[in-house]
Amino acid sequence: MAVDLLIRNGRLIDPGSGRDEILDVAISAGTIGQIARGIPAAGAGQVIDASGALVTPGLIDSHTHLFRGSDFFGIDPDSVAWQSGVTTWLDAGSAGAFRMPAFREQVIERSEVTVRALINISYLGVAGMNYDEYCNPATCNVDLLERVVDVHRDVIVGIKTRMGSDGVGYQGTLPLVKAVEASQRTGLPIMCHISGSPPSIDNVLGKLRAGDTVTHAFTAAGERLIDSRRRIKPSVRRARDAGVRFDIGHGAGSFSFISAEALTAQGFWPDSISTDLHQLSLPGPRLVEDGEQISRVRGDGAPQLTLLTVMTKLLFLGMPLAEVIRATTSTPAAMFGLADRGVLRPGARADVAILELEPGPIELFDVFGETRRYDQKLACRATILNGVPMTPRPVPTPPPWIRMIDQEPPSARPA
Ligand SMILES: [Zn+2]
Repeated sequence: MAVDLLIRNGRLIDPGSGRDEILDVAISAGTIGQIARGIPAAGAGQVIDASGALVTPGLIDSHTHLFRGSDFFGIDPDSVAWQSGVTTWLDAGSAGAFRMPAFREQVIERSEVTVRALINISYLGVAGMNYDEYCNPATCNVDLLERVVDVHRDVIVGIKTRMGSDGVGYQGTLPLVKAVEASQRTGLPIMCHISGSPPSIDNVLGKLRAGDTVTHAFTAAGERLIDSRRRIKPSVRRARDAGVRFDIGHGAGSFSFISAEALTAQGFWPDSISTDLHQLSLPGPRLVEDGEQISRVRGDGAPQLTLLTVMTKLLFLGMPLAEVIRATTSTPAAMFGLADRGVLRPGARADVAILELEPGPIELFDVFGETRRYDQKLACRATILNGVPMTPRPVPTPPPWIRMIDQEPPSARPA
């Protein structure tokens, strides 16, 4: 079969197949053809010289918010995907049962990248900044969720619930209890957000089962995974031993170097690495706090937080490169049943990321503005979607409820 695109001489890292070596990848009709050394370039439609670059499966971001125009948080995935290698995006609970048809029509079907949804246990889904989806216990309607999943099962890969004092208010763990019931009835795994306490992290973890995921694992909020002496809590070890997964979900408030360094120093690494990209986290670290918490920094328009930024932070913390790639390819694919994603295999869909490790020095930020110096960062050379390199496009102007201020992002400030 004619080769449409040949990626030559890159360091192919594909943890799902155990490969890490210099190889060429031939793509035909949107599908991975041959993976071998020295594939002849003659006759190939397009040739990309990936010398010095990393060639990986298209990356999977397992926690994002993409219901743009329908809630506070949603962003446009395609405008970030081309510059970050992310070809598969999981929306973490923006849509609940009532808005899933619109999410499918407006986001899943209109995006170039692959979008899959974790359905919110609340039929409202995420709306505003005020975590109002659980305002009424009746929103956690398991019968309704099951009927919507029956219709949209091809695009729904999990159930999302938020367990934090800011989100659940007086309802305690009821939304999680309902999510477990919904999971038992649909067979879908749960992704559970943690933030402020109550509820206690012990109480939340005790309800999760093998195959469920905790997101915001490196939070410094009340439900953090470490105790006051920064030791891993016993309930966290028990949950991991029981098969509960831990995801990063960086976001605008959920990645702290204090938690990250304490956990990783004790050998606790995330199963999956994700951004929690949304309107507040995309522009990078917050500089200004006001009553509304919506003032943002106006940078040069380029996203300050992408999956590559978060992956770079894990490299800084000491996670080996191949494990960082695994946590953004084969592991999230397995966690959420994404067949044909997160692996480079002949016959698979040709979603490929061409990345490079750019020398620094660079400054890394957590959500509190804590900084760390590092000597390299992951950057994107190309994002190949279904066999075709994505073309650049700007990130759309933020919605009117995101107030931008003219201030340089911290990374652009002189030291
Ligand atoms: Zn989120």
